[in-house]
Amino acid sequence: MSTSTRPAPSKRLATFGETVFAKYTRLARKHGAVNLGQGFPDFEPPEFVIEALREAVDGYQQYAPLPGLPAFLEVAAAAKGAALGVELDPVLNVQTTVGATEALFAALQALVNPGDEVILLEPFYDAYPADVLMAGGVPVYVPLHPDAAGNWTLDLDELRAAFTSKTKAILINTPHNPTGKVFTAKELDAVIKLAEEFGAIIVSDEVYEHIAFTKHVSPAARPGGFERTLSISSIGKTFSVTGWKLGFVAGPEDLIQHLRMAHQWVSFVVATPIQNAAATALKAASSPKHSYFAELKTDFRRKHDLLIDGLKNTPFVPTQAQGGYFVVADASALHYKDDVALCDDLPKRCGVGAIPPSAFYSAAHKHLAKNLVRFAFCKTDEAILEAVQRLGELE
Ligand code: PMP
Ligand code: GLN
Repeated sequence: MSTSTRPAPSKRLATFGETVFAKYTRLARKHGAVNLGQGFPDFEPPEFVIEALREAVDGYQQYAPLPGLPAFLEVAAAAKGAALGVELDPVLNVQTTVGATEALFAALQALVNPGDEVILLEPFYDAYPADVLMAGGVPVYVPLHPDAAGNWTLDLDELRAAFTSKTKAILINTPHNPTGKVFTAKELDAVIKLAEEFGAIIVSDEVYEHIAFTKHVSPAARPGGFERTLSISSIGKTFSVTGWKLGFVAGPEDLIQHLRMAHQWVSFVVATPIQNAAATALKAASSPKHSYFAELKTDFRRKHDLLIDGLKNTPFVPTQAQGGYFVVADASALHYKDDVALCDDLPKRCGVGAIPPSAFYSAAHKHLAKNLVRFAFCKTDEAILEAVQRLGELE
């Protein structure tokens, strides 16, 4: 049968290629490389988390209610409510989603009309522009600037200039992927003020909220923030089980209801045993007697330092992260044409996988990432040490 009569992909998808994560994990596997590319832990999740999943095998196996399984909603509302300093109703203020990924998609579907503008800070997590475009919106980019000390700063005048009467939302990601920036209360207060002035919503991607080396602040915890913020969490990131794909969103009742109306037509509900297991794990970890969250931070801080120290003996010049899974490093010394050429070659040349940060820049600004590379430190100490050893042998 001729394919000429078959339709092309929809115009919405026309500018999308394969995600860098699919491409560079495939490449790392092909060359048996140490994968410091895609951000997933390569170590066993905590035993109490896996035990909770085992228990869920004997639990309820049918559809959960649309907002989520009551047992999970209750602990999620209690934990996030305590972090934000607000009382959250488990059903009215919380919605479960298939990972933070679906939460972002549903949030933008719920808010954006064709032609509405959505402000994205650049570099951005690669799903954001796609989610804005699939909702018919227009991404508006505001740069984060690396200063001489390697800290990424937000220029509040540039931010103000990006807001217009068409601004429907601004996306904030803290701790930030890929730079590791943790936004300050002052920066978040400025975002809230502008969002108030222009009637915009803040979509706050907080998947690394428990992996912050300085104090993580949610916009929803700041004065005036909760009323206009959808705060997104990821159980995959929180418990090092990215394959679980369970996320949840906390926010004011009307915004959660809008998001729920989109979510019901995307996935309807999230896997029941996963919600049951997450309820048990989050309840245990949230107990003041449990050391899980403190250990998570300490472990990731150690891994971060291991990577940064190890890179000192390589051609890469990293900047410190304040949280999250990643560090960005300068790779100018290797003289590749650009970051894509470097990351295409590294697995083959020295057996290390990495991600080209140009994937986190708009077409007009990809050149800013030309000399950069992103390494993940959510890996075993052995993998990090092996990777830096291999990178150190590059000439
Ligand atoms: N946001 C950011 C900033 C991320 O790095 C990721 C990657 N995990 C996600 C969202 C998606 O999270 P999830 O796996 O829960 O869908
Ligand atoms: N968030 C992860 C990263 O930045 C990957 C998630 C994915 O593969 N979609 O590496």
